[in-house]
Amino acid sequence: MSALIKPIDGRSVHHLQSGQVIVDFSSAAKELIENSLDAGATSIEVRFRNYGLDSLEVIDNGSGISPENYDSIALKHFTSKLTSYSDLDNVTTFGFRGEALSSLCALSEFTVVTATENEAPKGTKLEFENSGKVKSKSMVAAQKGTSVTVSGLFKKLPVRRRELERNVKRDYSKVLNLLQAYASVCVGVKFSVWNQPAKGKRTPAFATKGNPTTRENISNVFGAKTLVALVPLDLEFTLTPTKKTNSATESRTVKIFGHISRPVVGEGRNAPDRQMFFVNSRPCILPQISKAFNEVYKSFNVTQSPFIFADLIMDTNAYDINVSPDKRTILLHDQTELLENLKTVLNELFENHEQTLPANQL
Ligand code: ADP
Ligand code: MG
Repeated sequence: MSALIKPIDGRSVHHLQSGQVIVDFSSAAKELIENSLDAGATSIEVRFRNYGLDSLEVIDNGSGISPENYDSIALKHFTSKLTSYSDLDNVTTFGFRGEALSSLCALSEFTVVTATENEAPKGTKLEFENSGKVKSKSMVAAQKGTSVTVSGLFKKLPVRRRELERNVKRDYSKVLNLLQAYASVCVGVKFSVWNQPAKGKRTPAFATKGNPTTRENISNVFGAKTLVALVPLDLEFTLTPTKKTNSATESRTVKIFGHISRPVVGEGRNAPDRQMFFVNSRPCILPQISKAFNEVYKSFNVTQSPFIFADLIMDTNAYDINVSPDKRTILLHDQTELLENLKTVLNELFENHEQTLPANQL
């Protein structure tokens, strides 16, 4: 006998979906700092307590949230950034789905302190119910900006919580890698990240100074020594038009800016965990692009893995960011052609570089 097909109740659907947007501390931290960047912050502090198990707090000096928006902050699909699907091609903010805060709210104890320029030094502390409704409002002292605290993430999903507790150190290093990518790519934004373990002193993870260049950011995040082994990436190629190209104005040029280890054996650090990829400065996972970089590098230096910071600058029509709720997976429309071009220009870069090095460094 087949069971009756019936709808899942709204609250359960919300829980199920929230667990897809927020899967671990990395996704939680990512959503919060993206909101801070979208709010124009030039200073972002990330505080972990007990590697995030107790709480995760992101404090920014951005625009703040005005009182008429308090009730919508954590409601699902409420966003100030996008109103219809057609806006998606031109989206310039990190967020646009209006899901992150409602998901975090469903999965944790969620508190916001915020003040706009008009209100500071007075601010408002907001506590939320898991449904996203404001539970309490109180006046507090606050500088312009927003601080969001997420405590007891996943306590409502015991299996997920146990998983989180088991993998907390691994997760912490994953979240640091992600934050390092944002801190490296965001020029003019000061980042400071630290953890307060359950016992012992608070430990800074890294900090940047609001530098005007990614090079200085990388020096702050990974240490000045890292720079010695790096060469600038400044690549450009044009993809041939295909039938899929339907807009006459669409640019088919791809530029890649960044930094990569020199392929000189013994000089660079072995840095497979220091590889960051971006599309229009949005950190993302690009497995095929990463593979191409590593393959070409290996043909010049078989023993080491390079440090890579590669920002692919291209037309927003050339890719789709709306593939997964966390927006880290990006679909590049002309990936095959792009990869071929990339390998050619990278080979040229490394070949030219070897020729310009003094003989004793080869
Ligand atoms: P999205 O970023 O997709 O719009 P979110 O759920 O992440 O959705 O955030 C909901 C809304 O809350 C945002 O559109 C923004 O207006 C506001 N907001 C969230 N975080 C901040 C912040 N740090 N500073 C200012 N406004 C914020
Ligand atoms: Mg957001």
